[in-house]
Amino acid sequence: MSERQLTGGCQCGAVRYAIPAPTKGVHLCHCRMCQKAVGNYFAALAPSPRDQITWTRGAPQVFRSSTAAARGFCAACGTPLTFEYVGRSSMHVTVGSLDDPSAVVPDMNFGVESRVATLAKMAEWRDEKTDAARINELFPGYRGFQHPDHDTEQWPEATP
Ligand SMILES: [Zn+2]
Ligand SMILES: [Zn+2]
Repeated sequence: MSERQLTGGCQCGAVRYAIPAPTKGVHLCHCRMCQKAVGNYFAALAPSPRDQITWTRGAPQVFRSSTAAARGFCAACGTPLTFEYVGRSSMHVTVGSLDDPSAVVPDMNFGVESRVATLAKMAEWRDEKTDAARINELFPGYRGFQHPDHDTEQWPEATP
């Protein structure tokens, strides 16, 4: 029986992975170490059994952030990719590095002692969409170098 697989990777495409879709344990961690590691208000993390993570291209570089934990990231572009407690049978991948971050649903906030209070007001903030037309106007010939949200045979793509 084949489990549903989720794929993901870093922004530049040097590191790609596949994990079984998690059915529980997806969470936001607001702890100060996660804030620092992802450069954000919180880390969104999805668990996988360690032996079921497949590195389909490259592998993360690892920073040991404490005696208990290690964090993987792409050495080429810096995308935070994993969190793990050393010696445990599970690892987490960052939700934002999944090809489809909406494929998993968090159900818990962890590390709430350092949760930034202003986040509670997020729903009140002004919403604005990315304006692709405006980007093309401001940067004529605009081209993104982010890896697409699916596996590729070759990246960067060969230019014709
Ligand atoms: Zn990368
Ligand atoms: Zn944390």
